[in-house]
Amino acid sequence: MYKDFIDNYLKAHNHKAINLKAVLFDMDGVLFNSMPYHATSWHKVMTQHGLPMSMEEAYLHEGRTGAGTINLVARRTWGREATEEEINQIYKDKTSEFSSNPPAAPMPGALEVLQQIKADGLTIMVVTGSGQKSLLNRLESKFPHIFQKELMVTAFDVKFGKPNPEPYLMALKKGHLQPNEAIIVENAPLGVQAGHAAGVFTLAVNTGPMDDQVLWDAGADMLLPSMPAFSDEWENIRQAMNKQ
Ligand code: CA
Repeated sequence: MYKDFIDNYLKAHNHKAINLKAVLFDMDGVLFNSMPYHATSWHKVMTQHGLPMSMEEAYLHEGRTGAGTINLVARRTWGREATEEEINQIYKDKTSEFSSNPPAAPMPGALEVLQQIKADGLTIMVVTGSGQKSLLNRLESKFPHIFQKELMVTAFDVKFGKPNPEPYLMALKKGHLQPNEAIIVENAPLGVQAGHAAGVFTLAVNTGPMDDQVLWDAGADMLLPSMPAFSDEWENIRQAMNKQ
């Protein structure tokens, strides 16, 4: 069944095969279970500022800039964009609300699949819109010996965030990879859009409360319900790609 998803990708992008060399991982909602904290913070703070936003909506906007998210709801609720002052205040409150949570736990299944991929000799990269300075330390402590500094794309590396393909194009460049030499693992619609626009086979892992259709509509080439499912299916996916 994975063959059909792969065939559709190859046809759409005019490639003969996926020559798998690397797996590019998004971070929030894929490696770390941080999305519930983000969603509750957005919901709470936006509502306090008179901009009603459900937790589900926060999941849909994951990866959008703070200003982009605030303005989207401001236009809908107030019929205008938020001022710079309003944006700064709301985003500051959201950040402080988010920071009041304990560090997010690793996503169940993430370490397992990372170890499987590493054992297969493939390159592993992380591509995130996050700009935390301690990112690599945190990755190293939860997923020892998996990630390397040179193989990371963070907020510091790019001008445009997801859904712009830039972060994934940058990852291809850093990893010396062609689009058909990698797959992307993403949980959010904007991240899937970015992966799709970069021309890379994009596996959506629906770890949030969203309808699967949202991720298909964003351009997912394949979809799994969870990271443990990805770990369970990894060998089958890899073999299906090798058989092309
Ligand atoms: Ca994500």
